[in-house]
Amino acid sequence: MFPPPRMLLSAILLLATGTVAITYDYVVVGGGATGLSLAVRLSEDPTKSVVVLEAGASGIGNPNITNLRLNAGNFGTANDWQFVTVPQVDAGNRTQAQIQGKVLGGGSAINSGMYLRGNKAEYDALETLGATGWNWDSMFAAVKKSEHFHPPSQTEIDTLGLTYNPEYHGFSGPISIAIQAINVSRFFPEFAVPTLQGLGHSMNVDPNGGFHNGPSWDFLTALPDSSTRSYAVSGYYLPVINRTNLHVMTESQGSKILWSAAKTTGGLATATGVEYISFNTSGIPKTQTINAKNVIISGGTLNSPKILELSGVGNPAVLSPLGIDVVVDLPGVGANLCNQPLTTASYLLKNGTVDAGNAIRSAIIDIEPFSSYLKGADLQRSEELLATKPDLLSEAQFAVMKTLITEGVPQMEFAWNIAADANNVSTLTFDRLILVKPLSRGTVT
Ligand SMILES: Cc1cc2nc3c(=O)[nH]c(=O)nc-3n(C[C@H](O)[C@H](O)[C@H](O)COP(=O)(O)OP(=O)(O)OC[C@H]3O[C@@H](n4cnc5c(N)ncnc54)[C@H](O)[C@@H]3O)c2cc1C
Repeated sequence: MFPPPRMLLSAILLLATGTVAITYDYVVVGGGATGLSLAVRLSEDPTKSVVVLEAGASGIGNPNITNLRLNAGNFGTANDWQFVTVPQVDAGNRTQAQIQGKVLGGGSAINSGMYLRGNKAEYDALETLGATGWNWDSMFAAVKKSEHFHPPSQTEIDTLGLTYNPEYHGFSGPISIAIQAINVSRFFPEFAVPTLQGLGHSMNVDPNGGFHNGPSWDFLTALPDSSTRSYAVSGYYLPVINRTNLHVMTESQGSKILWSAAKTTGGLATATGVEYISFNTSGIPKTQTINAKNVIISGGTLNSPKILELSGVGNPAVLSPLGIDVVVDLPGVGANLCNQPLTTASYLLKNGTVDAGNAIRSAIIDIEPFSSYLKGADLQRSEELLATKPDLLSEAQFAVMKTLITEGVPQMEFAWNIAADANNVSTLTFDRLILVKPLSRGTVT
């Protein structure tokens, strides 16, 4: 009943008109972390047909993807959308690269693989803000279902002091999780942990149970070697690549949603499919369409608004000047953009702290509220800043965030990383000094 599986199907599925011959139950636009996983789960029902359109290439087997430590090799390449911000007034008018995965698996194919759930209070805040049923309890059950945790070996526990709580993990899901262990030198148990303890931060046995304050070991989306990436493609898609009701088309970029001419009696617009541009048939971009009963847009934070707006869903003040007919008046599209600023700091260590040529990726992370680090006038200044709502933040979100902050939900993340060069010069780098809950908001159009 369905055409043959596998990727790159567009050439054989097209009619002369450029329309795919069947009506799918679901078309998923964006084969990233969310879209690809969702498509695999939807296609578990063999009576439903699902097609995924991914703008990027498959990337399967690319070492910059499979080896978690080589992920930066994707930045600025065809696997990255290579977006840049507008000049940032509060950053000396500099622009910033906004790396976004453009490859099957999306961000899960090129990210740093750090596996850390938020605080219980943050998930519960989603429900407070109106997302009924989205709270810590429901999310905790779902994330554990997706997880296959590989506990550290007894040797790693004995020599490095790695810790975890089995109650916080799933053991039979598609995504492998392991604690960073490879090349972790004695530096961490001998120096880093005592230093943090001396500052009054005792180790958090496992940060994945809804309370991540304090230093803890770094959990990664990786196989037990803590180098081989586990992501939407390897965990969800490859095990079912021969599923006949699931089709994944790479180098196929969704350009807009197709709508039924008639609205429902309630005035709602009904999607009937998607227009997309295929780049994989002959090297010449070709506009085609796909019919589907349900259209799911999962292009990621920066691309989903664009697809919606090109489809007439968005703020009329943005769409009308561009000559786009408004199908759904939805001013929130492209608003409320939030990103976490990140900086780094490096220090030279005594020679021989780590072995020559070895580098490890953030063995320890420390996640803290401002009040743990800021003192005196700095703390007072942060309290003053909290008194005024930033322009683009809604009253409801501001109220929730102030509560999180004042109740001690952390705002800062420090990740410890060490490396040695060929001359055995060792460096300690805080490679992620991140403000995890910024109050400022931006827009994407
Ligand atoms: C450099 C980097 C490092 C990160 N590190 C971490 C980390 O250590 N830990 C962590 O938890 N998170 C990390 N993240 C964030 C994480 O990867 C994202 O939160 C996650 O991937 C978002 O999933 P998504 O499905 O919303 O979007 P994405 O995974 O970005 O997927 C969107 C997909 O849609 C495709 N697409 C977009 N537009 C179209 C279109 N018009 N037609 C067809 N396809 C389209 C894209 O190519 C992409 O494949 C990192 C992200 C980046 C970029």
